[in-house]
This record gives sequence, structure tokens and C-alpha cells, in this order.
Amino acid sequence: MAVVYLCLGSNMGDRFNVIQSAVNLFSLSDSTNIIRTSALYETEPWGYKNQNWFLNIIIEIKTSLSPEELLGKCQEIENLLGRDRTHEVRWGERAIDIDIIFYDKQIINTEKLTIPHKHMHKRAFVLVPLLELIPDFVHPVSGKSVSALYDELEEVEDVFLYGTRPHV
Ligand code: ATP
Ligand code: CA
Ligand code: CA
Repeated sequence: MAVVYLCLGSNMGDRFNVIQSAVNLFSLSDSTNIIRTSALYETEPWGYKNQNWFLNIIIEIKTSLSPEELLGKCQEIENLLGRDRTHEVRWGERAIDIDIIFYDKQIINTEKLTIPHKHMHKRAFVLVPLLELIPDFVHPVSGKSVSALYDELEEVEDVFLYGTRPHV
């Protein structure tokens, strides 16, 4: 079993309901167990600014799936929740986005997968919720802890605690 950190985000439609549904689908799946989640955050868009703010959460799961199988599971859940990739702008609006941030301490660089996620160290919306869960976890490529990566952020988008969090 691997311990994995997933970042879920939504900025279209009923954002809370979409995040709750994604959490439910990971909970119900035989191949993924949710151990804990961060709080839920409302965050300023990263990269492409002219769009709604996101809700983001990090979930810690245990899984029997390989990294490739887990990517398939994440994409299946994205599709079930109405993600339509044919109309997307890069880093633009989407009903749901599920990124694999860490998969144990594995380092993967294939055409389909980069783990740890290639932009995670530049994103407050990933690092702030990760800080709650694993401040001392060391990024296997840079050798820096999550809290060190957070301290080194150059641009820090706004990240606010959201009033409530999804039920697990
Ligand atoms: P970003 O990856 O910068 O956050 P994005 O989430 O908007 O951008 P998507 O359109 O959701 O990008 O995904 C594009 C591709 O990224 C996917 O088809 C997948 O193969 C690839 N990918 C590479 N590494 C990862 C990862 N760690 N988690 C999820 N997808 C990944
Ligand atoms: Ca993403
Ligand atoms: Ca993605």
C-alpha cells in the first residue's frame, strides 16, 4: 500500500458539492482509503487569473493502485463529475481537477506522469494545505521539507480557510 497526497480543486458550478462528491468517490472505491484531509481552502487562481476562485483540498489516501492506475482513477472521477477537457484553457476553469502531488517517496518522469507534481513547490494552494498534514515531509527531488518549500515561495497567491470541509 502506498501513501499518496492528492490535490482536488474546483472553480465551476457548485464547487463544494463537486469536491464532496470526489471525496465520496475515493471513499467508496475499494482501491483507495482516505486517511485524513486538510481543511478546505478558497484560493486565488494560479497561472490564468481571469476566472473564479477555486476551492482546494489535499487528501491523504492509502492505495493499492500503481501510480499509472491511480492517474486513471483520478481521471475517471474527473469525467464522472463532468470535466470536459475539449473546452479547456490551460490552467483555466474546470469543474474538477485532481493532481497527484506525492506517491510515497517515488520519483516518476514519464510522458503521462510527473511525480512529485511538477508545479507543487510554486503553489500556495498546494503547500498551505500540505503544511497542515506533513510539514516535515521531504520532497524526494529537491530534498526540501514542505515547510521549507512554503518559506521559499516567491509569489504567494491568496489562500483563505473556507468555513466548512467535506465529510469523509
Ligand atoms: P497542472 O498539471 O499544471 O496542474 P492541469 O492540472 O490543468 O495542469 P491537466 O489538463 O489536468 O493539467 O492534466 C494534463 C496531464 O497532466 C494529464 O493528462 C496527465 O497525464 C498529466 N500529469 C502529469 N503528472 C501528473 C500528476 N502528478 N498528477 C496528475 N496529472 C499529471
Ligand atoms: Ca492541476
Ligand atoms: Ca490535473
